[in-house]
Amino acid sequence: MRDISLILLAAGSSSRFDAPVKKQWIRIEDKPLWQFVADRFSSFDLFDQIIITATKGEEHYMQLHGDYTIVTGGNTRQESLSNALKLVKSRYVIVSDIARACIKKETLLELIDQKEHYDVVVPYINVSDTVVYDDTTIDRARLKRIQTPQLSKVSKLKEALNTSKEFTDESSAIVAAGGSRGFVKGSLEATKITFKEDLQALSCLKPPKDLILSGSGFDVHEFDTTKDHLYLCGERVECGYGFKAHSDGDVAIHALIDALLGASGMGDIGELFPDTDDAYAGIDSKKLLGEVLDRIKKYGFELINIDLTIIAQKPKLSPYKGRFRNSLASICNLPPIRVNIKATTTEKLGFIGRGEGVGVMANANLTYYNYNRN
Ligand code: MG
Repeated sequence: MRDISLILLAAGSSSRFDAPVKKQWIRIEDKPLWQFVADRFSSFDLFDQIIITATKGEEHYMQLHGDYTIVTGGNTRQESLSNALKLVKSRYVIVSDIARACIKKETLLELIDQKEHYDVVVPYINVSDTVVYDDTTIDRARLKRIQTPQLSKVSKLKEALNTSKEFTDESSAIVAAGGSRGFVKGSLEATKITFKEDLQALSCLKPPKDLILSGSGFDVHEFDTTKDHLYLCGERVECGYGFKAHSDGDVAIHALIDALLGASGMGDIGELFPDTDDAYAGIDSKKLLGEVLDRIKKYGFELINIDLTIIAQKPKLSPYKGRFRNSLASICNLPPIRVNIKATTTEKLGFIGRGEGVGVMANANLTYYNYNRN
């Protein structure tokens, strides 16, 4: 092997990226940007190891996408990098930002070609604009715009980052620590995606596929006769009994949450909100639904429609269907026509038929957020 690892920095906050979706979760065809970049680098067949830094809380979902080493990032680029470096076993490391999505293999090979000669090797491009510093025009022929990826000797980089000073790239840190820096020609294709418009400008990126992703959910709750009301679809129903539950027992919202998690590939409600966690004791299920809807949006999805079937012998639900629909439409920010509520009985059969509890089936459809449409 070449004794080189790759660290991809994907823990950024996308603060300048004007979209409801975080940059790393924008879909390129049907892959999130971070995975598109990881797969692209991986296809070059140059690295012993690929390590990707994740925003805290996103690691598990990232891991579900594929067999990459995911490590929790820090509050700064440097902290994320230091966390990832702990896992590097090779002598050399290439560090790249997932926002530089269209790096060519040739650029990487040029960096690798110089690895014996310098402590760090960086791609650069010339400056074509006139540059003025305060009021003095600078000789632009002497200026370089430094890009990533950069190739470093792992020992030198670890040494250079062992400081409280913050650097904007590896080469600044290594040079500040007395190391040597070599240059290779970069390319405009390595331009960093900072704003939404940048996505259209890069030729290697394709827009999200127009997929419909469907998910289903099912939940049952038993009645609790010591209570005098219950919650369904976020609405209070005065029926003289309630639900046994760790949360407020809104079985309809629970089924809907599972449908949303199903469509987005995020697992199930028990993984996200364990009923062993006191934080969720008696919690308003609308809050849990709101949290799941936030995640779905942040991870690059848009909700198309939802459809629920409430299976209950009692209470009688027909008077409530309109309220249920409006409640979920409002929480999900959907037009009412895209929220359907069906109520049925089991013809007195089984535990629902005996009036022991309520079951709900839910379906949800998602599509990818499309930056060309929005
Ligand atoms: Mg439940």
